[in-house]
Amino acid sequence: MTSTAWTGITELVTNDPAHPESDGSPLGIIADAAVVEEGGTITWVGAEHRVPDTDEQRDVGGRAVIPSFVDSHSHLVFAGDRSAEFAARMTGAPYDGGGIAVSMEATRAATDEELRALVGARVAEMHAQGTGLVEIKSGYGLDVRNEARALRIAREFTEETTFLGAHVVPPEFRDGAGRTEYLDLVCGDMLAACAPHARWIDVFCEPNSAYAFTGEESERVLRSGLAAGLELRVHGNQLGHGPGAQLAVALGAASVDHCTFLSDADVDALAGSATVATLLPGVEFSTKSPYPDARRLLDAGVTVALASDCNPGTCYSSSIPFAIAVAVRDMGMTPAEALLAATAGAARSLRRTDVGVIRRGARADLTLLDAPSYLHLAYRPGVPIARRLA
Ligand SMILES: [Zn+2]
Repeated sequence: MTSTAWTGITELVTNDPAHPESDGSPLGIIADAAVVEEGGTITWVGAEHRVPDTDEQRDVGGRAVIPSFVDSHSHLVFAGDRSAEFAARMTGAPYDGGGIAVSMEATRAATDEELRALVGARVAEMHAQGTGLVEIKSGYGLDVRNEARALRIAREFTEETTFLGAHVVPPEFRDGAGRTEYLDLVCGDMLAACAPHARWIDVFCEPNSAYAFTGEESERVLRSGLAAGLELRVHGNQLGHGPGAQLAVALGAASVDHCTFLSDADVDALAGSATVATLLPGVEFSTKSPYPDARRLLDAGVTVALASDCNPGTCYSSSIPFAIAVAVRDMGMTPAEALLAATAGAARSLRRTDVGVIRRGARADLTLLDAPSYLHLAYRPGVPIARRLA
C-alpha cells in the first residue's frame, strides 16, 4: 500500500483536542501540520517538521484542512424536481408535507438506471463540496417494491441507509381505514423487504401535517424497526410542537432531526440523553420558516449536528458550507460550534467514531479549504472553497 503525506497545512482541524500538539480547543487545531494516510486510513497526525518518511508527499500550498463533513440526513433517491412548488412557496404558499406525493410519482416511474445515475450525481456533488460520509433515506417509493429498490440503490453509495416508508401516507391510502392499512404495510411486508438493505429506520413524526404520523403511530413504526434489528432516527418537531423529540429520547434513537419547535421539557429530555439534535437550516431557508435555536440547545448541553436534508421539496441543497453559514448567521452558533456540529456532531448522530475526526486509525476523509482558516466557511458564504481531498 502507498503511504501519502499531506503537507503545507497552515491550519489542521482535527476535532481531537487530546492531541498533544493541538490548541486544546474542541476543534483540536494544529498549526503548520501534516497528515499521513495509507489505504484509506489515517496513520499519523502532527506538526509538519516531524512528519515521517512516506512513499508520496502532497503539498496543499498553505491552506486549511478539516475532517470531511458528515451529512447525516439526506433524501437523495428521487426523480423529478419541485421547483414550481418552491417558487409558489416564495410567494406565500405554506409547506405541509403534501408535495411528497409528487416526488413519489416521479420516483416510481424512473428506471433503476435512472435512479442510480441521479443518486450518483448527487453524491458526487456532495463530495465536490467537502462532504465525505453521507446518510441516504428512502421515502419516495412508499410501496414495498419501490422502498426496497430505493434502499438497494442507496446501499451502492453508502452503508448508512435509512428506511423511511413512514415518510407520509401515500395518496392511495388516505381515505377511511387506509391510514391504518398503510401503517400495517410499513410495519409488515415493507419493513421485511427493506430491513436487509437498511441500517436505520426513520419516521416523519409530525401531528401538524395531515400526511405525516402521530406520536402513537410513530412509536409503532420505530418499535417494529427495532424488532427487525434496525437502529432509530426520527424526523420531529419540524412544523410545530409535537411528541417527536421526547419519543426519540424515550426509545433511545441516535438522533431527532429538525428540532425547530422545542419546549423546555424537550430540551431537558435531550440534554439528559445520548440522542443528538440534528438541525437542518437549509429547510428553514427554503421554506421561509423560523430557524431552530441552536444556542438554546448548546447551552443546555445537547449534542448538536448540522446536516443538509437534501431533498426535492423543502431543501434542494447538498451544501454543508451553506448550512454552516446560516447556522452562524442566524442560529446563534459560533463558527467553531457549527463546524464541529457538521463533522463530529453528525458522526455521533450516526454512532460513528471513525469519521468527523482526523486522528490515527480514523477514515482518511480529509477536506481541503481554499482558505487559511476554517473561519472562511461562514465568512465566505456561497463561495466554493471546500472540496474533498481523499
Ligand atoms: Zn428529512
